[in-house]
Amino acid sequence: HLTKRLTAVANFVPQGARLADIGSDHAMVPINLVASGKIDYAVAGEVITGPFSRAQAAVTDAGLATQIQVRLADGLAAIQAGDQIDTVVIAGMGGILIRDILARGWRTLKTVKRLVLEPNVQEDVVRTWLAQQQFTIVAESILREDNHTYEIIVAEPSDQPVNYTTQQIKFGPHLMQAQSPVFQAKWQHQLLTNQRILANLAQAQNVPQAKIAALETENQQIMEVLHG
Ligand code: SAM
Repeated sequence: HLTKRLTAVANFVPQGARLADIGSDHAMVPINLVASGKIDYAVAGEVITGPFSRAQAAVTDAGLATQIQVRLADGLAAIQAGDQIDTVVIAGMGGILIRDILARGWRTLKTVKRLVLEPNVQEDVVRTWLAQQQFTIVAESILREDNHTYEIIVAEPSDQPVNYTTQQIKFGPHLMQAQSPVFQAKWQHQLLTNQRILANLAQAQNVPQAKIAALETENQQIMEVLHG
């Protein structure tokens, strides 16, 4: 049984995919997808021995050790050429870590058809890197679970240069288009938080002008996206 967040991630894995789940921890995503018959081969990568052992135990308990290879490796080094991986999931980490894992493994990515990424924070860093590497964002999703808002970014290699505006990088090209209630609530909340900070700064002394300007700029961007 997957959480709402991991269900949304798993839903973006195509039927019959050969999956690598990097930073798999409990290996819930590969186990679920293989057990349900949606896919029949996966690699679960973990860099830390604790989660690696947890993943191995879970895969063995599920009786799926022939279909799911659990490997102790840093990032995309868990993937071997013979795996013929076409789909990579990286979920539940910060955007900078996800970007760094992708950047260090760019050779492995040459044959990959789809990335399903769920950065907990710094989604913009991930979108920027994807565009630079000529991956186009084909879908996005935003959801609320346990008092946190999660964004899922699905990307595929493009044969043309990929360009996103500052706005699309920050808010997500598909998310800002769809304007779901969760998206609106996320940015309304950010707007109110920034306004509260600005009100406090107005009372304080020696506040750097750049700090105020940055908050005002962000508020402007949010208002444009929410009301544009
Ligand atoms: N993907 C699962 C999820 O979304 O629920 C687990 C997320 S857990 C918070 C992040 C996992 O990523 C940890 O188990 C950590 O050990 C692993 N991790 C961090 N850096 C990694 C790297 N460079 N290579 C492989 N795994 C990594």
